[in-house]
Amino acid sequence: MSYDVVVVGAGFSAIATVCNLIELLPASAKVAVVGDDPGFGRGTAYRSELYLHRLNVPAGRMSLFPDRPDAFVVWLKERKRPLRDGDFASRQDYGLYVRDTLAALLRDKRPRCRVDFIRAKATGCVERYNATLGFLLDNGDEIVGRHVVLCLGVGNAPLPVDLSALPSDARDRTIDNPWRLSWLRRVEANDSVCILGSGLTMIDQVLALFAQGFRGRIDVLSRRGLVPHGHARVPKPPADFDPADLPETISGILRQLRRESRRAGDWRSVMDTLRPKTQALWQRLAPAERKRFLRHALPWWNIHRHRVAPDVYDRFREMVASGQVVIHAGHLHDISTADDRLMLHYRKRGARDEVELRCDWLVNCTGVERAGIAHSPLLQQMMRQGLIKADPLRLGIGVDSNSVVRSDNPGAVSLYAVGALTAGQFWEITAVPDIRAQARAVAQRISDAGGPNI
Ligand SMILES: Cc1cc2nc3c(=O)[nH]c(=O)nc-3n(C[C@H](O)[C@H](O)[C@H](O)COP(=O)(O)OP(=O)(O)OC[C@H]3O[C@@H](n4cnc5c(N)ncnc54)[C@H](O)[C@@H]3O)c2cc1C
Repeated sequence: MSYDVVVVGAGFSAIATVCNLIELLPASAKVAVVGDDPGFGRGTAYRSELYLHRLNVPAGRMSLFPDRPDAFVVWLKERKRPLRDGDFASRQDYGLYVRDTLAALLRDKRPRCRVDFIRAKATGCVERYNATLGFLLDNGDEIVGRHVVLCLGVGNAPLPVDLSALPSDARDRTIDNPWRLSWLRRVEANDSVCILGSGLTMIDQVLALFAQGFRGRIDVLSRRGLVPHGHARVPKPPADFDPADLPETISGILRQLRRESRRAGDWRSVMDTLRPKTQALWQRLAPAERKRFLRHALPWWNIHRHRVAPDVYDRFREMVASGQVVIHAGHLHDISTADDRLMLHYRKRGARDEVELRCDWLVNCTGVERAGIAHSPLLQQMMRQGLIKADPLRLGIGVDSNSVVRSDNPGAVSLYAVGALTAGQFWEITAVPDIRAQARAVAQRISDAGGPNI
């Protein structure tokens, strides 16, 4: 089957792109969305069924469309969800909002392009005649597109240790994909849980355990033991400085941001000023400075930049204060079993001490920092074909400032990427406010480029 546009992926980036294509393309155009995720549009992020799993961006900044910033807040009000200014809605509601928005566009009586949703995984890619790309699907079909948008997200990282020597019942109690919350049903209230990784996914798991009345101990282990900060309950206005005036070295930037934080009286105000300008700042940095940022500043950037809703933060800190959640900093190097339990050995950060942790359940929340090519057989194949290139920092694939994929054969195929795959070019491209702008821009370029049916 031949399409004007093929969108590969089924998470937020894909659906945001499709919503914009529906608005921009003529009724004669044909679009296909290929995704292996049953909840089209919800992806990993907005599939959660727990009300406690909240957005980490205020509802007022989560509209699907940059030019209609109130759309999500209006949707919440129409459904009588209690919401005050600056509130953080549930991720479940956000998933419903995305689904409803897409459904409303598809139901619209005005003439609109045809959109086919194909539940499948794209397993391979072939260049076809007339500068089109064909995708081989795991259901045996092939679809061909004149314009292609890759929206593959980051994928899943395997556990950082080898579990193959563990007996199968112990392997059964190591959770490699924590986003499938069904593992929680097997946990007894007084079991003990060890979580690897101390970022946002860890907080999600802790809250999910709390919500089901879990009373046991939760050990959290990560290299540095750094945990995300919370948003302020009453945010101060953004700090008064222009990020365009920041120096172009990481050490210089950090020095100035510390000065601005002291002046503003709250580092959050400084992050809020920086936030909409981060892409421009990243693009000004020389490759060596970008590398320096990734090597030295990334863990601190993550906990200050990706903050959690204030009540989520308070709940988590209470659990730490009560001793139910214990945070460890160190390097895990071994997992074995003893007395039917899992036994972890880690080396304490900055010390020689070897520490042993015992638990009934081990949950991998180390996540994937950025979208590497290694996690996707499709991308690996496309790289061998010269259709894409890894970006120099291996944060994803190379794209230009219009999200056009860089290849050895430029211009042959109209190929774009949206979302985390483009972090090498944009860095700040994981959250809705950035992805929605990118999705709109890509849809606009496709619409402007045209084609037989567009
Ligand atoms: C738990 C969590 C909470 C978050 N909370 C927020 C928040 O509150 N606010 C915010 O702004 N951002 C948040 N984010 C950021 C979030 O990642 C983005 O908002 C967005 O969901 C990313 O969507 P995506 O489509 O790029 O990636 P994904 O959601 O990962 O979707 C990629 C999809 O592509 C599919 N796919 C991959 N390869 C193939 C293939 N070969 N063939 C077919 N399909 C394929 C995958 O199965 C998946 O469905 C959160 C992220 C997570 C993980």
